[in-house]
Amino acid sequence: MAPELPESEIRRVVRHQMRERALPTIGSTIPPGRRASGGTRCVVCGFDITAGRNECEVGGLWANETCAVIWRQESDRLS
Ligand SMILES: [Zn+2]
Repeated sequence: MAPELPESEIRRVVRHQMRERALPTIGSTIPPGRRASGGTRCVVCGFDITAGRNECEVGGLWANETCAVIWRQESDRLS
């Protein structure tokens, strides 16, 4: 099982990355997650997305579904 950050830690990373302009803000709703087949890396937390977990494509970038949801919430807070 791949390491997965607790929600508070993901939130901290997302805020930091958006401040550094390493992540764009998400202006639209995130698409529904799909079951990952492996081989993608989460743009938010930097971990490989384990096959069988849910992943979301956000503007051509891949993220764990959990990370994408928090990313979206934090985008709303900024706008
Ligand atoms: Zn992630």
